[in-house]
Amino acid sequence: MRRQSEHPHATEIRALFQQLGSAEQGLSDAMATQIRARCGDNSLPLEPPRPAWRRLLAQFHNVLIYVLLLSALLSLLLQHWVDSGVILAVVLINAIVGFIQEGKAEDALRAILSMSTSHCLVMREGRLKSIDSRLLVPGDVVMLQAGDRVPADMRLFVCKDLRCDESALTGEAQPVSKQLHALAPDTTLAERRNMAYMGTLATYGMAQGLVVATGLATQLGEISSMVKRVHIRPTPLQQQLTRFAKQLALGILVFAALAMLFGIWFHQLAPAAMFQAAIGIAVAAIPEGLPAIVTIALAMGVQRMARQRALVRRLPAVEVLGSVDVICSDKTGTLTANAMTARELFSATNSYQISGEGYRPEGAITDRSTGQRVLPEHDACLTRACEIALLCNDATLSHQDEQWSLNGDPTEGSLLVLALKHGQIEQSLAQQWPRIDVLPFESANRYMATLHHNAEGTIRLMVKGAPERLLGFATTQLGNPTVEPLLPSAWEAAMADFAGRGMRVMALAYKELAHRPEVLKAEDVEHNLTLVALVGISDPPRPEAIASIRMCHQAGIRVKMITGDNPVTAAAIGAELGLRVERVLTGQDIDGLTPQQLSETVEQADIFARTSPANKLQLVSALQNNRHVVAMTGDGVNDAPALKKASIGVAMGQKGTDAAKEAADFVLTDDNFSTIAMAVREGRTVYDNILKSIIFILPTNLAEALVIFSAVLFGLMMPITPAQILWVNMITAVTLALALAFEQTEHGIMRRPPRPFGQGLFTPALIVRMLLVGGLGASIVFSLFYAYRVQGATIEYARTIAVNALVMIEVFYLFNCRQLTQSLFHPRSMHGALPALLAAFSVLCLQLAFSYLPVSQQLFGLASISGWDWLLIVSCALPVLVIVELEKAWLRHALKPAPQIPAHGAIHS
Ligand code: ADP
Ligand code: MG
Repeated sequence: MRRQSEHPHATEIRALFQQLGSAEQGLSDAMATQIRARCGDNSLPLEPPRPAWRRLLAQFHNVLIYVLLLSALLSLLLQHWVDSGVILAVVLINAIVGFIQEGKAEDALRAILSMSTSHCLVMREGRLKSIDSRLLVPGDVVMLQAGDRVPADMRLFVCKDLRCDESALTGEAQPVSKQLHALAPDTTLAERRNMAYMGTLATYGMAQGLVVATGLATQLGEISSMVKRVHIRPTPLQQQLTRFAKQLALGILVFAALAMLFGIWFHQLAPAAMFQAAIGIAVAAIPEGLPAIVTIALAMGVQRMARQRALVRRLPAVEVLGSVDVICSDKTGTLTANAMTARELFSATNSYQISGEGYRPEGAITDRSTGQRVLPEHDACLTRACEIALLCNDATLSHQDEQWSLNGDPTEGSLLVLALKHGQIEQSLAQQWPRIDVLPFESANRYMATLHHNAEGTIRLMVKGAPERLLGFATTQLGNPTVEPLLPSAWEAAMADFAGRGMRVMALAYKELAHRPEVLKAEDVEHNLTLVALVGISDPPRPEAIASIRMCHQAGIRVKMITGDNPVTAAAIGAELGLRVERVLTGQDIDGLTPQQLSETVEQADIFARTSPANKLQLVSALQNNRHVVAMTGDGVNDAPALKKASIGVAMGQKGTDAAKEAADFVLTDDNFSTIAMAVREGRTVYDNILKSIIFILPTNLAEALVIFSAVLFGLMMPITPAQILWVNMITAVTLALALAFEQTEHGIMRRPPRPFGQGLFTPALIVRMLLVGGLGASIVFSLFYAYRVQGATIEYARTIAVNALVMIEVFYLFNCRQLTQSLFHPRSMHGALPALLAAFSVLCLQLAFSYLPVSQQLFGLASISGWDWLLIVSCALPVLVIVELEKAWLRHALKPAPQIPAHGAIHS
């Protein structure tokens, strides 16, 4: 892994190519493989994961567990062997379940968080290819574009205004602009303008570079020889639960101590027994399983999302998803299929129709009025248009197994295909008109220009871009056979016609230059153009996007479309998608409004056209001002600020830049709007499942604690001993509550309104439920116990009844909790009940062993009860299930249905 050249910045580029055995056409695949065998992968080793023993230890690092350990220690000192044994078992089993499940969950999360491998454009075998950056070797020729993370250390040899943010390497926040001259050997790292270093970010322009160092041999590799493991940050809910656990632990301790003192003074009960009771109360009330359940539920959701092509980059965002009420989406490629096809062409002399589908360059260009095939040799306008479409273009087509596929931007691809349908223009035209320079497409400029010359010395500038822009720069038009003054009205009419039919419109123009400019600048382009043609490109909405938007509307989520495209095109596509089109705001409109005005206007419009990345940021701010929780999509380097500002930033996996992906919370590997809607659904499911676990754990723990607490309070005999309570707590926490983390998406989850953002854990509904189940459970247990005692049962016998009744109530209540509000008696509600059934089954098995094994009867003081007793237990526990269902029915009635957003401007018929 020696660096090939000690001072690549100080060496002449020719010499450097020679040293590395490379050339501007790059390496061959065979050579690259050879070099890779010698130099290794272009990656930095990962920081080793936390060792297992530290992860296990971390399971005990929790206030609630400290309280439990303290209780075990005190019980041990008091020689309550069973109690201390069971408490320690609770702690251990909980730690082991947590260790295993959480470990699996965290591994999965980490794998997903670090999944987006980066790709780069490299010349191999004389062709531009996108490869995994890990496969780069010294000698490779790499293309850098704005938004790319520089994949290795490279010496630049072509540079168009490249600017790099090198803060990762030098700490300097201001982007550095690059140039090409060789430098003195002692130039400091920050001053080496002709180099681009691994890990820095290209923020503007483009360049080509020769890779001089990879992996550990890079500057970044020398500074930090390892990539830090992905850090999993706690989510808002997890933070809230940690705070809650601290308060709860304190509360429980105070409460248990008060109960103990009360028993001793008021009822003159034995201090040792009271102490034992206090510990029972504390252990019963502590929801020790909750942290693990939350992690598991989150991990399950993240895995489900990954399977459906949404990669989570920041865990807290998963929870926020459930609160999203506005989604701002890009149009092209996200709401539309990005299968661009040039359908129509308009020139000063004629209108044409173009047949053929996809990127297959076969089809006919016909006269729109006569339907006759056009003979291109007689049509100067058409021929010139196709020349520009071919030359002012960076896309390429490849043909494999009868399939035509595109490398590059789909808009450009459609124009390339158009040119090839002309019949007399071939790829070889590029050899007759070599490209001297280029101004790449920038969404702020909305055009692309290339400079060419031919053997006769003609220098021609070719431009394609948004028609409003080029119309502004043009003074003449190409007629038949010569250049004539521009007639804007005809062009404007054609533009409106194409756009009104939902087509993206591109204009093609050119001019001849008297001399060759040193470097091509915007000033050279923006005047005296000769307009040649308008091309209408169709890009239909994705059918699944239409369905997803309808689903979002039902779920109380507003969808807004943001595009750089023309307002008329945008509105036509918007109408097909079912968005409101009465009001279309353009980037100019947005710039003309004050933030207050924008906040008001933004509510009325769903369509934003001719926007710049800066407009996206304004829109996010305006929506957030109105207290919306906004998801925003983006792909370009300039979208990063808006993605960061949005509550949920969503980057495109395919066409997105590294900069956008790094700023985002989610990456869509299929660039598809429906995937966002799916992620919202999964986010709601995750939150539901966590909520269900909480709604199960807190009321049942309260019931357990209340049984002992009220016995102490009223100086009564305890229906269940502290040791028995500890057992119940242990087995239910790791079975029943855990099952809820595995629940499937509830039916109708996308018919509910978004969850209010920042809603606390303790909603009135939860408190009502705690009182209801806690109170009901404890009273049933008490009643059963005393009924048996009155009938003359032994204490052991009555306690066996009581403890099994408590467990049975919890088993029934589990099934109540599977749906937050929907009825358990609905036929649909048994869907996906397997985890819950399994959990219930294991609890019952454990409970039978507990009740009948002689060892446990001895340890816990139990007696064998009869089959009739079980029948009675079930019939006393069943009412809890029914009463909770009644309460849910009341909740359903009390909750307002989602304020459904009516569909707008449905598909034209
Ligand atoms: P979108 O939101 O639809 O992706 P873009 O910012 O990509 O919008 O494009 C805005 C406008 O710029 C398009 O309507 C088109 O007129 C023009 N345009 C798009 N791509 C290119 C390109 N590769 N070269 C020249 N002009 C382009
Ligand atoms: Mg685009």
